[in-house]
Order: sequence, then C-alpha cells, then structure tokens
Amino acid sequence: MVAESTLGEAAAAIVARPPLVALTGAGISAESGIPTFRSPGGLWEKFDPAVYASIEAFRRDPAKYWSIRGEFIRNLDAYRPNPGHLALAELEAAGLLRHLITQNIDGLHQKAGSRSVTELHGNLREIFCLACRRRYLAPRIPPGTPPRCDCGGVLKPNTVLFGEALPPAALERALREAAGCGCLLVVGTSALVQPAASLPSIAREHGAWVIEVNLERSAAAAELFLEGPAGVVLPQLAARVLAEREKAPR
Ligand code: NAD
Repeated sequence: MVAESTLGEAAAAIVARPPLVALTGAGISAESGIPTFRSPGGLWEKFDPAVYASIEAFRRDPAKYWSIRGEFIRNLDAYRPNPGHLALAELEAAGLLRHLITQNIDGLHQKAGSRSVTELHGNLREIFCLACRRRYLAPRIPPGTPPRCDCGGVLKPNTVLFGEALPPAALERALREAAGCGCLLVVGTSALVQPAASLPSIAREHGAWVIEVNLERSAAAAELFLEGPAGVVLPQLAARVLAEREKAPR
C-alpha cells in the first residue's frame, strides 16, 4: 500500500514540475492478464525471450515463433485495458500528461483512450509480409503456422524483436520527450531493456524527477517510489493529481 504522504508528494511534484511524460512496460498490462517477462508461471519462464523473440530465431524457424505467439496475436482483441491504462488516458485528457512512451506491443493504451503514444517496440496488431510488405491487421490474418501472405511470403508482426533496430522516428520522439519533461512517470518496467532503460537517466540529466510505480524498485532509480500494482496505484495518483491541480494558483 502506498503511503498517503508519498502519493501526495508525487502528485504535488507532477503539478509543480510540468510537463509529465510516462514510460510504461509489461507490468502495466499484467492486471489485464498479459504476463510480463518475469511473471511466475508465465510464458517466458519456459522460453527465454532473448532467444525466442529474436529476429535470428524468427528467420531460422518462423513456425516456432508462431506456435508460441500465434494464439495470443489471434486473440489480441479479447484483452481489455485495466484501471492503470485508464488512469493514464484520464491524465492525458485532463491536459496533465503530455506524452506516453510504451515498450508494450499490446495496444492497450490506445484502447484505453490514450492518444499521444509512442510505441517503442512496435505492435502486434499489424502483421507484414516479409516478401512483398503487404499489411494485415490482427485478428484478420491467414491461418497456418506460420501464416503466409497470398504471395507465399512469411508474415511477421510489426514488433521489434531482439537483434532488430527500433523504429528511428519512435526512438527520436522518446528521447526528445524524456529530455523535455519535468517529471517522468515510469510504470511497470524492469528498466533493463535498452534503449528504453536509458530514458529515466536522460530525463534526470535534463533536470526531471523520476516517479516510479512498480511492485518493486527497478533499475530506474526513481526519486519517488510508489509501491503497488499499477491498476491500483495509478487511479489513486491520478485522483490526487487532479485534486492538486484544483488547489494550484492559476
Ligand atoms: P519486464 O517483464 O522486464 O518487467 C516487468 C516489470 O513490471 C517488473 O519490474 C515488475 O516488477 C513490474 N510489474 C509486474 N506486475 C506489475 C503490476 N501489476 N503493476 C506494476 N508493476 C508491475 O518488462 P519490461 O521492462 O516492459 O521489458 C521488457 C520487454 O517486454 C519490452 O520489450 C516489452 O515489449 C516486452 N513485453 C511486452 C508485453 C506487453 O506488451 N504487454 C508483455 C511482456 C513483455
């Protein structure tokens, strides 16, 4: 449970030190039923993501990738945003969150209503043919493991696999937002996967405060740590920020 005083301190900092930018990771979607890399009993306990979710492994054996990820991709529409995603969308709608950078590929921030979103690692919704670049949208993708395009080419989700470069425009935007914010709200990430893991220190070097919501402290080394599940802590924080803004002189 987050101490009232810490919540209040975080809310006051967010109002006093605009603009606010958020950086999210797999932990924010855990309460929507999507396992993180580290969830006990989750997919990635059995399959090392650095091996399975690598571009080398995909090229060598796309059927193996699709046998592990296919069901999730085909069922993507069944996953719903949780109160953590909704709280961030609410802060954006209230003009209190300028931008959201996510490492997630599940599209739940957009489903929650967030508009200003950078998907650093792409998304699972768009599926491309490696041969002719034709685009399919999940869940309307051809059957088969791996699914193939009408031209016969192998289909691959538009996600950044280990060993692939990040989309340059997304990385450039994320770096700019981190360098230009007054507070960076880091939610549900272990802050170990680069280059996203550098964003908290980039923000700090430019004078921002880093505020973290997580079950345990991560490598983000935040100035303020709010311990607990994002689906519980973020709605509390959003309510406090909105109340704090009402008190602030205009
Ligand atoms: P990670 O699996 O390395 O770490 C997850 C973090 O979330 C941990 O720090 C954990 O303590 C925290 N956490 C778990 N449950 C939480 C909750 N309910 N509330 C708050 N925090 C919680 O994830 P990561 O840092 O995002 O990193 C790695 C990669 O995982 C990214 O590249 C991402 O694309 C990929 N990934 C994405 C999804 C998704 O799109 N939902 C799911 C799994 C992995």
